[in-house]
Amino acid sequence: MQCPFCHAEETKVIDSRLANEGDAVRRRRECLTCAERFTTYETAELVMPRIVKTDGSRVPFDENKLASGIMRALEKRPVETEQIDAAISHIKQRLRSTGDREVPSIMVGECVMEQLRELDHVAYVRFASVYRSFEDVNEFREEIEKLEREPSSEIRKQQLSLLPSSGSKKVTNIKSRKGKTDPTG
Ligand SMILES: [Zn+2]
Repeated sequence: MQCPFCHAEETKVIDSRLANEGDAVRRRRECLTCAERFTTYETAELVMPRIVKTDGSRVPFDENKLASGIMRALEKRPVETEQIDAAISHIKQRLRSTGDREVPSIMVGECVMEQLRELDHVAYVRFASVYRSFEDVNEFREEIEKLEREPSSEIRKQQLSLLPSSGSKKVTNIKSRKGKTDPTG
């Protein structure tokens, strides 16, 4: 590996250890010409599934986007960079372990929330408050069903006038809201 300082060809490895919970090898190198030291990381190149967004469009998995979403939630929180790296590699492992070539963006969001819940509760709430309100179709559906079970007096009046014989008609095909900020990409 070329020296990034003087571009000499010959460098030697002076230390080698596992990093990122074993996903990477961290090597400390020294240039034989200028004696500068630098670090390299070696990781396996694994193909990530593509992400299916809620509007049906497909985008490549973007680790930088994922990381910046997590960093934003963790802004000014006492969480170490190493822990963040570990969280990101957990998420990637989870997505790869599906064995699918495409995964829904909702799954990425759920993975992020799972990791943030472990790391820092404030960051978790920050992320969840943005993410859940725009992305989580299931929770949206739950809210709707809750409203159906416990209709407000106004809704009850409307239902009685519109559907006098059926007060428990089910709402189906609830779609996620579109055109909102997608914190997971
Ligand atoms: Zn050098």
